[in-house]
Amino acid sequence: MAEETKKCAHELCSCQVSGKKYCSQACEDAVGVTTLACDCPHTGCAGHAV
Ligand SMILES: [Zn+2]
Ligand SMILES: [Zn+2]
Repeated sequence: MAEETKKCAHELCSCQVSGKKYCSQACEDAVGVTTLACDCPHTGCAGHAV
């Protein structure tokens, strides 16, 4: 069975995750927190503050 790949559940995060809801602990921790940028450690994520 192929693992389903989908966008990280963090609103501002653009990372793809498979088999999980969030791409990183940072995104999971950001749930319910009002944030203006994604704080995940992945380069290429479009949600990072510049
Ligand atoms: Zn991200
Ligand atoms: Zn994420």
